[in-house]
Amino acid sequence: MVVGGGHNGLVAAAYLAAAGRSVLVLERLGQVGGAAVSQQVFEGVDVRLSAYSYLVSLLPDRIVADLGLEVRLLDRAVASYTAVSRDGRPTGLLVERDEGPVTAESFRALTGSDAEFAGWQRFYARLATLAEDLAPTLTEPLLSPDTLAGRLRDPQLWHDLRERPLADVVADSLSDDVVRGVALTDGLIGTFADVHADDGLAGRCFLYHLVGNGTGRWRVPVGGMGAVTGAMATAARRGGAELLTRATVTGLETRPDGVTVHWTDDDGIPAAVDAGHVVWGAAPSVLAEITEQDGGPRPSGSQLKVNMVLARLPRLRSGADPAIALAGTFHVDETAAQLDAAYAQAAAGQLPDVIPFEVYCHSLTDPSILGPAERAAGAHTLTLFGLHTPAELFREDPVGTRREAVRRVVAQLDAHLEEPLLDCLARDATGEPCLQAASPLDVEESLAMPGGHIFHGDLAWPVAANPEQVGTWGVATGSPRIVAASSGGTVRGGAVSGLGGYAAARHLLDPR
Ligand SMILES: Cc1cc2nc3c(=O)[nH]c(=O)nc-3n(C[C@H](O)[C@H](O)[C@H](O)COP(=O)(O)OP(=O)(O)OC[C@H]3O[C@@H](n4cnc5c(N)ncnc54)[C@H](O)[C@@H]3O)c2cc1C
Repeated sequence: MVVGGGHNGLVAAAYLAAAGRSVLVLERLGQVGGAAVSQQVFEGVDVRLSAYSYLVSLLPDRIVADLGLEVRLLDRAVASYTAVSRDGRPTGLLVERDEGPVTAESFRALTGSDAEFAGWQRFYARLATLAEDLAPTLTEPLLSPDTLAGRLRDPQLWHDLRERPLADVVADSLSDDVVRGVALTDGLIGTFADVHADDGLAGRCFLYHLVGNGTGRWRVPVGGMGAVTGAMATAARRGGAELLTRATVTGLETRPDGVTVHWTDDDGIPAAVDAGHVVWGAAPSVLAEITEQDGGPRPSGSQLKVNMVLARLPRLRSGADPAIALAGTFHVDETAAQLDAAYAQAAAGQLPDVIPFEVYCHSLTDPSILGPAERAAGAHTLTLFGLHTPAELFREDPVGTRREAVRRVVAQLDAHLEEPLLDCLARDATGEPCLQAASPLDVEESLAMPGGHIFHGDLAWPVAANPEQVGTWGVATGSPRIVAASSGGTVRGGAVSGLGGYAAARHLLDPR
């Protein structure tokens, strides 16, 4: 039995079914995919948005090949554009995917010399080496920290990321406030962390954002995230797995030889079945609740997600072509100093005056998510991901705080646009602007991700945490009959990687 039809549950189901196991997946929602789905969000607007997660980096080619997944991931021509105002003049920092003379000139124009770009290139070249060395270990049993360090060509960088505050590691190579901010954001996606602390929180998030498939490139899934999980569901079914939706698991009774799984359907009608093993594809705190165990501190997410459909791309004050600037990650108010200020305010229990965020336009790389009329009319999608907006800030007044957060990010984005964002938004069937916002509380409500934490909890270093974990797949729960598979339940499962589901399947298929 696989509980939870998120992408990790589907990957586990596909591997197990292909190996001849009898597999039933139970998913509480009406569709599978969890946080990796495509939806038509706005009534009367034929655009299939990746409503939650939107870019793929960590899904290993090996899983795609093993499962025969028909998934196409496209590189974006631009890595990032950072809109800034320098000496009162609107400008920006453009980083191409393959950094060439245009990137060099952009660094020079912003920082006044070639030194910052040289530092950037040195830092990211070291990270690229680390990614190449680390990525293959993600699909192996867990290594001890010493064994892993012995396999790396740059063990010093691995050591620094683990032991030192991320802000210090970044400051070794970069000095410009804007440039440092671009680097630091990778340590803060969905993670409420102080980049000056030595708790490793930001360092872990940073690492996961840089190592995917040995390149750290974030790619656009053709057809949106739903196409990725659709391919995983197809692979699971092809092997003979049964996928049951609208089935909420309510209880597990474990015995030495198996588990009885209890669930209810949408009408509250209960059912139960015996299984040899349960693969737990939902968040670990849901397992703790169901088995009435102490799951430790409840996770707390820290992001603002806004989905939009544009009638047209807005013009930029800097004069940059929006079709280029918005094709990559478009950073707004994410300088190192702004990240610090926002963290301090949020940690003090206030919604940051200036919310650091990034936006990105999926349809510039993959127009296939637009319906024919929308495509012909020049419509585009826009996804906004805000940082340092922890769930706690929204608890007292969820709707009012979300509305205020949206007001702030729209005003901040407008500061870089020649025309107000609102004027560029498409309208839905009722005439309302196509803008849908979700706080961590909204994500929790719709996806059962506790605290709305996008990884089900803080990420772990991709290495054995103790000697007992060495040589295992990092999928243990309190019971040998229940195997973790999800983002937060497994050591290396964070993000859309399939690594949690892969590890759960390997644990069951190759007992060690
Ligand atoms: C807004 C947002 C943006 C993100 N952006 C990205 C991104 O761009 N790239 C990236 O790599 N990652 C991103 N992430 C993170 C990524 O989406 C998740 O870490 C990943 O999808 C988790 O997959 P999963 O299969 O482990 O868990 P989930 O996707 O959470 O799936 C768990 C499933 O279990 C089901 N379930 C829960 N309880 C029960 C129950 N009692 N009975 C039956 N079923 C149950 C849920 O309904 C759900 O379908 C983002 C996440 C969010 C929320």
